Amino acid sequence: MLKTQQVRCPNCGNFAHRQYIHQHNLVKTACPVCDYLLVSCYVTGKVIESYAPGIAV
Ligand SMILES: [Zn+2]
Repeated sequence: MLKTQQVRCPNCGNFAHRQYIHQHNLVKTACPVCDYLLVSCYVTGKVIESYAPGIAV
């Protein structure tokens, strides 16, 4: 069961896709523009995987 929302990418500000993977209690946000990726558990808030290219430090 997948549900996809369109959200703003926190990295580049373009439209990204947020997908809920209910059987694993995960929410995945992926941006096709800058390859931003965030996978976290929406129950615990724990980040499983994240990748944010091009962020200046
Ligand atoms: Zn982006």
